[in-house]
Amino acid sequence: MARYIGPVCKLCRREGMKLFLKGERCYTDKCSVSRRPYPPGQHGQGRIKLTEYAVRLREKQKVRRIYGVLERQFQQYYFDATRRKGRTGEQMLGLVESRLDNVVHRLGFASSRNEARQLVKHQHILVNGKRVDIPSYILSAGDKVEVREKSRGIKYIAASLAQVERRAQLSWLELDKNNFSGVFKGLPVREELNEPPVREQLVVEYYSR
Ligand code: SF4
Repeated sequence: MARYIGPVCKLCRREGMKLFLKGERCYTDKCSVSRRPYPPGQHGQGRIKLTEYAVRLREKQKVRRIYGVLERQFQQYYFDATRRKGRTGEQMLGLVESRLDNVVHRLGFASSRNEARQLVKHQHILVNGKRVDIPSYILSAGDKVEVREKSRGIKYIAASLAQVERRAQLSWLELDKNNFSGVFKGLPVREELNEPPVREQLVVEYYSR
């Protein structure tokens, strides 16, 4: 599956907030959003009045970029969410949060979703004891995610785990730091998904227009 490989800090500046796409750098004063808090490009510092459509489009782009998903796949998550019971926006967030690369990052094995994606692709991650190398793999409640024993010496995994306390602790994930493993207990609790803040209702309005 294709992925975006361009400069990521530009994406945060476009959305006007930290999307935490670069791991450790995002927590330092080198972050581009702190240094240049205006959109990229020649007219970045001009005044722009967003239309209603543009507000929804920006929100959709923001959520898509946070999770590193390209348009077609993201649209598919929306359609899948419309077929599920409950609020479409929350179901859609539930789907992207259940992706294996997201959970590897959230558990703390990787400092960004991009790094997590790399870990999965390079077969460092096991799900219920079996190697899974598909970053978009959707986990089910109770699935155990762990770093393969041979891969536990990788320096950036240890570095990321050392910083795990700095991130929000999420009730639907259970980390066993000493054994490089964790459990995906179920769908996320919406109230805990606030960093960065997302307004999923605008995404639903964008697609259902
Ligand atoms: Fe770059 Fe991270 Fe700052 Fe975004 S939050 S601008 S990815 S350093």
